[in-house]
Amino acid sequence: MSGPITTMDVLPSAEVPAPQSGPIFELYQPRETAIGKTLVRRTLPKRQRRTIGAWCFADHFGPERTGLAMEVGPHPHIGLHTATWLLAGELLHRDSLGSEQLIRPGELNLMTAGSGVTHSEEASPNEVPVHNGIQLWIAQPDRTRNEAPAFEHHDALPEANFDNATATVFLGSFGGVTSSARADTPIVGVEATLGIGSSVLELRKEFEYGIIVLEGRLAFKGSPIEQDALAYFGTGREELMLTAQEPCIFLLLGGEPFAETPLMWWNFVARTRAEIDQAYQDWQERSPRFGSLDSKLDRIDAPKPDWR
Ligand code: MN
Repeated sequence: MSGPITTMDVLPSAEVPAPQSGPIFELYQPRETAIGKTLVRRTLPKRQRRTIGAWCFADHFGPERTGLAMEVGPHPHIGLHTATWLLAGELLHRDSLGSEQLIRPGELNLMTAGSGVTHSEEASPNEVPVHNGIQLWIAQPDRTRNEAPAFEHHDALPEANFDNATATVFLGSFGGVTSSARADTPIVGVEATLGIGSSVLELRKEFEYGIIVLEGRLAFKGSPIEQDALAYFGTGREELMLTAQEPCIFLLLGGEPFAETPLMWWNFVARTRAEIDQAYQDWQERSPRFGSLDSKLDRIDAPKPDWR
């Protein structure tokens, strides 16, 4: 396995295009890539769009009626939170902190990597395969990214109702409710289900926002946003009117534009190549930095950074 992040997604440098501000509308198509044997559609990062708030990675797997072989053996992370969100099926999260947590639709698994953690994604012991879900990463700010790792599971998330839509707020605040999940930067993550018709989402002007459609499709000012496309809306909006001609499920991801420039390589989010080199070396040398995790799945070797 060569992924997740490669130069197909972002260049291994800290250079990014000058950020645009204000209410803009951009559409990005997903890139199909493989995680183990499973094809996923990646909508973040893009070379042109590395982050939305602190959101820096999004891989959608499914929908697949027969279930997906989404097992991923022990691998490391630094400098990010992983947020796993399922629409159908079950998955077992295990990590080097000793966490062993089944995840089901509507529940949030949030792992904080900090200075280093190891985790695996394994088949549910209930023999329920995973059918549909999305793996998201959130970049940690300098303030917390070298701290100890942590893990949270949330199975009682607040819901907001508006117009002909319902929303589960898994991170931050939206529609008058707030998730109790850890957030290191001002951020929001919502799963919304739209019925047929128009809905107006209330936004915060200082946040930038993106939408990833997971099922169905919707439209913004007559422009269709197809399944697995990423629509980027910029900052400076107080509301967003979306129209659905069929029932539709999408994620609304937003936050204050991330003030630091993340450097992403493989499963690592850092700031410099030297930090990535060190993480690569520590993983390959089985340093205690990443803890230990026994798994029936094979440990995944890190690919050598391109610049080494
Ligand atoms: Mn992972």
